[in-house]
Amino acid sequence: MAKYQIEVIPGDGIGPEITQAAIAVLDECEARYGLNFSYRFHDFSADLYRRTGRKITAEDMNEIGKSHAVLFGAMGLPDVRGPEGLELGAQVEMRAHYELTASLRPVRRFPGIETPVKAENIDMLVIRETSEGMFAGLHDQHEPSDTFASDRMTITRQGCEKLFDIAFSQARARRKRGTPGHVTLLHKSNALRSNVLMEKVFDEVAAQHPDIETAKYYIDLGSMYMVTNPEKFDVVVSENIFGDILSEIAAGLVGGLGIAPSADVSMTHGVFQPSHGSAPDIAGQGIANPTAMMLSAAMMLEWLGERHDDEHCTKAAHDIQAAVEKALADESTRTRDLGGTAGTQDVVDAVINALTTVAAA
Ligand code: ATP
Repeated sequence: MAKYQIEVIPGDGIGPEITQAAIAVLDECEARYGLNFSYRFHDFSADLYRRTGRKITAEDMNEIGKSHAVLFGAMGLPDVRGPEGLELGAQVEMRAHYELTASLRPVRRFPGIETPVKAENIDMLVIRETSEGMFAGLHDQHEPSDTFASDRMTITRQGCEKLFDIAFSQARARRKRGTPGHVTLLHKSNALRSNVLMEKVFDEVAAQHPDIETAKYYIDLGSMYMVTNPEKFDVVVSENIFGDILSEIAAGLVGGLGIAPSADVSMTHGVFQPSHGSAPDIAGQGIANPTAMMLSAAMMLEWLGERHDDEHCTKAAHDIQAAVEKALADESTRTRDLGGTAGTQDVVDAVINALTTVAAA
């Protein structure tokens, strides 16, 4: 029986509740698919920092990085800030430490879920670059000032090559289940020097993948197309801050952040967490939608399945996705963010119940 060591960081706000929900689904998968997960929990959070000043260190990340994967709830509280006035989390640190260059944020329209657009066939993967771009200067020397502050956008050839390699291989992998095999770059090369380089490298990498079609739009026009014609997108790739914003537009198209998973991955490390934040406004009320976190856990299983050539993991991942779809089709299991009245536990029960039917099919 395959054994996987999973490091769990529930974090702040709704993080702990949705993490517990995802683990309940993973527990169900253990028996059903012959898998074995061993969890180690870590209490890193903005709340811990507020109480003790303790935050995640390089040594912590070295230790955590020895495991098979990291399951991450959500971190950050609006009133807990570091010395530079920025919200405190561990995501940025882990991306840098493990060299996780790409954040994969898939969105798909689920039957029955109300959405703000008419398009039926929304199935796209937004890939956000996470190691440079507009966040490149995060650790630059900085003199606190009340009159001047700046950030910088830096793009490197190496960063772009890694990013686009992932984008093209994802387009090819997705094509196996029926998507067109298409990559769109959204950029701002008409106004930003960094994006001129990004576009140039994109063209070079695209030329090495003649089987994958491509398109390029300026980020402003592309953002409009995302709303007016989302069906034209398959894989969408962009720099750090554009990708951050785009992935939330994409989530909004299919019903919101509560159903949008994500994965920060390299060839060796993976951190799996929902696209949304810690949502402190609804924490502790039992009403958070755990779907995005469950789907992130499914992405973790898919990634483990691929890395360890473990078909049980892959099967469990696909069945969780199908079970979530089945559960969401029933109005009575939709949480408030999806226009329903269900609580977090109702969704957990419905997904576990749906797994029984899906796994038997
Ligand atoms: P961050 O910057 O950390 O990503 P954010 O500022 O985008 O966070 P979120 O914490 O993601 O904010 O929350 C945005 C809104 O979406 C809030 O009103 C929150 O209640 C809602 N929301 C986010 N996640 C969920 C969820 N899983 N279930 C229900 N509502 C959610």
